[in-house]
Amino acid sequence: MVWRTIGLIGKLICLPSLERRNSMIDLHGRNINKLRISLTEVCNMACTYCVTSLSDHKRVPDELKTEQMLRLVRMLKDYAGIEKVRLTGGEPLLYPNLITIVSGIHEMGITSIGMTTNGQLLARKAKDLAEAGLKNVNFSLDSLDPENFKRMGRVGKLHKTLEGIDACLKYGLSVKVNMVVMKGENDDEIVKMLEYGVVHGVEIRYLELMGMGPLHKNGDQKLVSMEEILEQISAKYDVQLVSSESDSTSIRYWVPGGYFGIIPNNSAPFCSTCSRLRLTSNGQLIGCLSNPSRVSVSHLLEQNDPEDALQKLVKKSISYKQDVTFTGSSLVMSKVGG
Ligand code: SAM
Repeated sequence: MVWRTIGLIGKLICLPSLERRNSMIDLHGRNINKLRISLTEVCNMACTYCVTSLSDHKRVPDELKTEQMLRLVRMLKDYAGIEKVRLTGGEPLLYPNLITIVSGIHEMGITSIGMTTNGQLLARKAKDLAEAGLKNVNFSLDSLDPENFKRMGRVGKLHKTLEGIDACLKYGLSVKVNMVVMKGENDDEIVKMLEYGVVHGVEIRYLELMGMGPLHKNGDQKLVSMEEILEQISAKYDVQLVSSESDSTSIRYWVPGGYFGIIPNNSAPFCSTCSRLRLTSNGQLIGCLSNPSRVSVSHLLEQNDPEDALQKLVKKSISYKQDVTFTGSSLVMSKVGG
């Protein structure tokens, strides 16, 4: 009983690091140093596992202005130990001031800047984004068949995403492809996608379907497990496990000619090493995808000395983090920054 109480208090307090005053290290030793920013809730695709229709994507009326977003990022860097940023959404390429955001974050001294995108609008922007300081791009690409691509994403064209990938490679950006694998939808394309990755020098990451948003409580029905993914690939290729970064969401494998990863939300949950914090387009922190609680920090933009208040709010937000496994939630990924 005593230990359970101490554990609970610890979770709520989240001990600051002894080495760096601004680090956010919780009782489980997780150093929360990665920030995912949902720049906008608007998206130009409507993937069936993410939303029920395109009209689900709506710009929130209180979306932060670019300079406000940059000030919040600076605060989170200076006072809460954020070291790496990933821009997402919604669709980050629909955010009007994307280049300004990237260069502003880069000028703060954050050098690890990534973006997760469907890539539909990327081909023409890749060069400017690379020059502004963007380092890596994760493309969401669920099918290499134009019709299946359209069926799963409802909107969008396969060739545009592929052109976006080519442009990023041309301008020296590091590229990964995320494929959400769904039974009966695209699980017959697992090997084809891997072969595309090997030919183009791009690491494919297979995502196990998560029970979020429209799939909350029934995500299992179309789940393709890590084991099934590995079975398909091993039937054709020699597969060897390799090491990954300690806080990586992906388990990595070598195959002749390249690497691939599996993000096994269900089969091998990685909550115990989660180092992520999410910031929504209207300035709310989300500590955990399993928990819909939001902690607003936008009001701190009005304060002269927000350090202590920000640290308290970040600690509150990360106290919602699951210890062990993703439990599903009503959160819609495109609203909270997937
Ligand atoms: N529009 C951008 C894109 O398509 O990459 C960024 C936002 S999207 C919500 C971010 C990621 O969330 C995508 O890789 C998408 O596949 C993933 N995602 C959304 N819903 C999911 C679910 N139920 N299970 C697994 N991944 C999901």
